[in-house]
This record gives sequence, structure tokens and C-alpha cells, in this order.
Amino acid sequence: MSTIKVKFWGVRGSIPTPGYSTLKYGGNTPCVEVRFQDGPFFILDAGTGIRELGKELMQLGKPVSAYIFISHFHWDHIQGLPFFRPAHNPKNTFTIIGSDDTTLNLDQIISFQMDSTYFPIAIQDMKAKINFRSVKEEIFSIEKVHIETIYLNHPGYALGFKMTFKNKSIVYISDNEPFYFLNQPENTDSATLPLGDLEDIFDNFVENKDQRIVEFCRGVDLLIHDTQFFIEEYQKRVSWGHSPFNFTVDLALRSEVKQLILFHHDPDHDDDAVDKIEQMSWELIQKSGKPISCRAAQEGMVVEI
Ligand SMILES: [Zn+2]
Repeated sequence: MSTIKVKFWGVRGSIPTPGYSTLKYGGNTPCVEVRFQDGPFFILDAGTGIRELGKELMQLGKPVSAYIFISHFHWDHIQGLPFFRPAHNPKNTFTIIGSDDTTLNLDQIISFQMDSTYFPIAIQDMKAKINFRSVKEEIFSIEKVHIETIYLNHPGYALGFKMTFKNKSIVYISDNEPFYFLNQPENTDSATLPLGDLEDIFDNFVENKDQRIVEFCRGVDLLIHDTQFFIEEYQKRVSWGHSPFNFTVDLALRSEVKQLILFHHDPDHDDDAVDKIEQMSWELIQKSGKPISCRAAQEGMVVEI
């Protein structure tokens, strides 16, 4: 077995997009399974893709113990959780990991989405043992996996995760936007990103805030990053919290990652549009001469490192 095995169950941003025009890449919202050789089992985000993962786990029929990392709490990252069947089985244990926000703790945020107004089963009624672990920007370990977290440029408290295991490393940044536009005079209308308290956090960091993310990703084997827009689309959607492909590629080049996966496809992009983003990203990498492989994430795709 590879050291780290990554399987994509949901790769679409914002809202599920079923239908003929998205058959190739898939319409489920973010969920990524990460298996470490003889190590723990992680699930990154609980978008609608987690439902299919749950079905596979049920078929395997073994007790499941997993850590579910939630990057942030926008619908596309949590809406599959109530339909994750292993969470209804008393033999299973899950630890949900994510950030508190200014007014609510992690467990409250997750519980509220299953309030009886929205869903008939409360989280307390799920039969599996469910633990919560609030994290901020920090470094910690789960079994032998070394984990680092970083706050991103996305409305709310969105975290990126870096996982290192036996000298292999991956970074998962599902929703993120470049900071550099903030400094450009033609974008003064967008100069007030809805960062809330995070603005104070970021102000304490280095001047070039994108550089923090570059350092975070430095040299990793696999970078999974938001690639929602074409450049022209992004220019009309500054401050939405998502990246144009040229920024994502630039980040991969500056960080000198080994492999880049384009993630969080725009719900208005059909398969042809995602193909085009993949092609244009690939051309930018070719032009740089750096040996980075690059693919658009696809439901069911497996990457082993
Ligand atoms: Zn999202």
C-alpha cells in the first residue's frame, strides 16, 4: 500500500450539481478520504460526497473510527453529515475537528444544522460515538500523523490542513482566495473582505499574507486547492473567497509542490469548462518548466503517494 491514499468523493463547490453536463467530474460537494498506511483514517469535509463514502463503509461491515476535518461550515462542507450512515451505527466512533467561530463552539455549530427545524434527527440521536475537537491555527498529532492548520482568505473561519506522515505530505485548502487583490487600487470596492475578527489575526502576520500560504504548502507531495474560476470570472467575484486558476498554479509553483489537484469546481462549470481550466493550468505549469503534475479533481479519483 502507498504511504498515503487519497480518494475524492465530492469535488464541486458551493452546491451539488447533478446532471448530464457534470458527469465526468461529478456534482457532489467536498469530501475527501485520506488513508495512512497502518495509520488513522481521515475524512476531509462532509459535503454531499460523504454519503457515498458512508455507503461504501457500511458495505465493508467493519467498525469505523475516523477523524472528520471540517474546513468551515458553509453548507457545501457539512450538508452530507446527516446522511452519513456510519454515524448512525453504535459500533463507530468519529471525532469532528474544526474551528469555533466568534459566537459558537464547534459542537454547537454542527448540532444546529441538525436542529429539528432543519432535520428530523438531532446529532445527539446519532448512534455512533461522536467527539468534537476545536482547533485554531495550531500544530498537533493524531497517532503518527503530524498536522498543521492555517486560516485562509474565505468568509468565516475557514481552515487549511497539512498532514505529514512518514515523510509524505498533503495540503488540503478547499476554499481560499488571493489576498493580493486587496492592495490593488482598482479593487478598492472590494477592499473590505468579510474577514471579521480574522482581520486582526492576519494583521499580526507577515506583510504578504499570500506568502504565509506559500510557506505552508512549501514542498508538499500533494496540494489540493480551490480552483473555482477563470480569470475573467474572478475579476467580477473578488471577495467571494475563491481562486482563479492562475493563482492556484502560481501558488503551486512558488511552493514547489510535487503534485497539484484543482478542486472546488464552480457549480456553473460543466465538464468542458473544467477540462479547459485543467488544460490552461497545465499550460502555465509547462511554461514554467517545473516538474509539477496537475489534474482537476474528479469524483472517484484516487491519488497515492
Ligand atoms: Zn466551499
